[in-house]
Amino acid sequence: MIRRPAAVLFDCDGVLADSEAVVNAIVAESLTALGWPLSAAEAQHAFLGLALPDMVPRIEARVGPLPEDWAEGLSHRIAAAMTERTMPIPGAVEAVHRVVAAGVPVACASNSARLELAAKLRGLGLAGVFGARVFSHEDVRRAKPWPDLYRAAAEACGASPGDCVVVEDSVPGVRAGLAAGCRVLGFAHETPAAVLAALGAEPFATMAELPGLLGLGD
Ligand SMILES: [Mg+2]
Repeated sequence: MIRRPAAVLFDCDGVLADSEAVVNAIVAESLTALGWPLSAAEAQHAFLGLALPDMVPRIEARVGPLPEDWAEGLSHRIAAAMTERTMPIPGAVEAVHRVVAAGVPVACASNSARLELAAKLRGLGLAGVFGARVFSHEDVRRAKPWPDLYRAAAEACGASPGDCVVVEDSVPGVRAGLAAGCRVLGFAHETPAAVLAALGAEPFATMAELPGLLGLGD
C-alpha cells in the first residue's frame, strides 16, 4: 500500500509539456547562428534539464562571449513559440486533474524562465490548477540540480519535502528532487529508465501509471 503524498510537485518540460523538441530546435538554431552548428537532438543531449544561466558558460566555452541579451532573447522566442502551441505529454493534463480531484495539492517547479513557464502552463490549460504554486528558476537562488525549487514548491503546498512526491524526467531534475528530500518518480520519456533508476528515482513509462504510483489508484 503506497501512502498518499502530502503534495505532488511536477516538473514542466518533458513531464507536462512535450516542449523539448520545439525548445531544442530554437536553441540549436541560435547556437548554429553563433558558430556552434548542432542539431536539435544534439542540443537536447547537451542541455536537457538545465536552466539558461547554467547553459551560458558551456556555450561561451565553445563560441566565446555571448551577447548580453542572448538568454533573455532566447527565452522570449521560446515563450512566443509556447504561446502559439504547447503540446501536452499524453495523459499528463488528466493526471494532474486526477491528483487535484483526490484532494492532494499540486505545484510546478521548473528550470524555465518565468515568462516561458507561464506561457507553457497557459497553453496546457493548467495555469488555474497550479495558481500561485508555480516556481521558475528566477524565483529561487539556485536552479536544479539544487533543491531550492522543490523546497519552495513543497512549502507553497504547506507540506514537508519528505512527504512530497516529485515527478521529473531529467537528470538535473531528479537530483534536485532527491536533494530536497522528496520521493522522485522518473518519467522515462527523454531519459532512459535505467539512467533515472541509477540516480535513485522510481522510473515509469506512461502518465496513466501515475495515480497508482501515488497511491491514488482505485
Ligand atoms: Mg524536464
